[in-house]
Amino acid sequence: MPSDTSPQDIIDDLYQMGITVSECHAMNNRKTGAPMPLFLLTLPRSEDNRNVYNITELCYLKIIVEPLRPKTGPAQCFRCQGFFHSSKFCTRNPKCVKCGKPHLTRECTKSKDTAATCGNCQGDHPANYIGCPPNPLNKPPPAPKVEKREHAKEKRCKSPLKPTQEPPFRPSLPRLKHSQRLPHQ
Ligand SMILES: [Zn+2]
Ligand SMILES: [Zn+2]
Ligand SMILES: [Zn+2]
Repeated sequence: MPSDTSPQDIIDDLYQMGITVSECHAMNNRKTGAPMPLFLLTLPRSEDNRNVYNITELCYLKIIVEPLRPKTGPAQCFRCQGFFHSSKFCTRNPKCVKCGKPHLTRECTKSKDTAATCGNCQGDHPANYIGCPPNPLNKPPPAPKVEKREHAKEKRCKSPLKPTQEPPFRPSLPRLKHSQRLPHQ
């Protein structure tokens, strides 16, 4: 959003969506010091505030909310590729980061030409790929309940209407070719 947006406007708008912001300021480019169209928000950790990631519009602008350092995921085990623990104490069966098969990564025989297979989702990326769906970083926060209800309503309203709707009737007037035209009197 434009760098001259007032941080107070952002705070107020978010407050109306049930999100409490403790701090909001425009971000500047680290090298040039020039203002960037980015705002850094600090929010207290709460159930409601997790919905901030579902917001796509703010102050009449389309926005994207991202965690500050999206490249640092949760701890991931080098041995089994599981999350939230270190390989030091891991007793699980090893899983290869490159091919997803049950061996330690250093024992892998996969050649560089064959695509990686993720041991966590079977996708064609290494298991430590930050965009892997089972990575807790990519699990979306629970959708707000209000939104769900709206969707259900929409469906209910739309379906009975559909069968009665017919394509608009377009009269097609037969056009006579010049040669076929009857002479006027
Ligand atoms: Zn492990
Ligand atoms: Zn392997
Ligand atoms: Zn994956």
